[in-house]
Amino acid sequence: MTNSRNAIIITIDGPSGAGKGTVAQIVAKKLGLDYLDTGAMYRAVALLVSRKTINIDDEEELKNILLKAHITFERNTDKRINIELNGEDITNKIRTPEISSLSSYLATKRVVRTKLKEIQREVGNKGSIVADGRDMGTYVFPDADYKFFMDATLDERAGRRWLQLKESGRDVALDEVKKEIELRDRQDSERSESPLHPAPNAVIIDTTNLSIDAVVEKITDIVGGNRQA
Ligand code: C5P
Repeated sequence: MTNSRNAIIITIDGPSGAGKGTVAQIVAKKLGLDYLDTGAMYRAVALLVSRKTINIDDEEELKNILLKAHITFERNTDKRINIELNGEDITNKIRTPEISSLSSYLATKRVVRTKLKEIQREVGNKGSIVADGRDMGTYVFPDADYKFFMDATLDERAGRRWLQLKESGRDVALDEVKKEIELRDRQDSERSESPLHPAPNAVIIDTTNLSIDAVVEKITDIVGGNRQA
């Protein structure tokens, strides 16, 4: 199944630590589609703002900063996708607990969401993508061809995030990670701008007891089965 653009859009939404990023990347690779990591875009804005001395609650100041920001994705020599902010590779700099918290706070701001939604739709208009985030199937691509919503228990998600941080050399207490995820869950679901919730027609996948491979298979079976039909 394809839309009139002859391209497909697959959206994967869900709370922090549900495994969306890992799964979305594998699905994109398997199906030969581009991967759009929209969380990385909010993180890029957070990094940008963290480097300035501005009042983050002043939408005008935020708007001025965003006007001059160029957020782009580049494929590096290992075929991995890097995120760049005004030409600087910030892929690793945006994966800190501080940037996680700030990105979630800034994601409540309309001016930030409007700017990022515009870039996300531009990418979606250019070709077939797997987009992961919080509002992909609900607000950014409401006409997406396939919508998924990945979830898992808070303990499971915190454990996964903790392991990821540990593997990247950051020693953070599990309890801290859990608190940070809980706060982001609340902020992401309760904000008035594009809050996190499943699209009515999304396939909901509880990944608590599922391996990455099993989730990927579930998604590719649904997409693959329909595309051949
Ligand atoms: O997915 P990731 O954890 O990298 O996202 C960082 C933050 O960006 C989230 O906590 C959320 O507040 C925000 N976000 C969002 N909408 C998206 C993607 C991310 O609000 N589509």
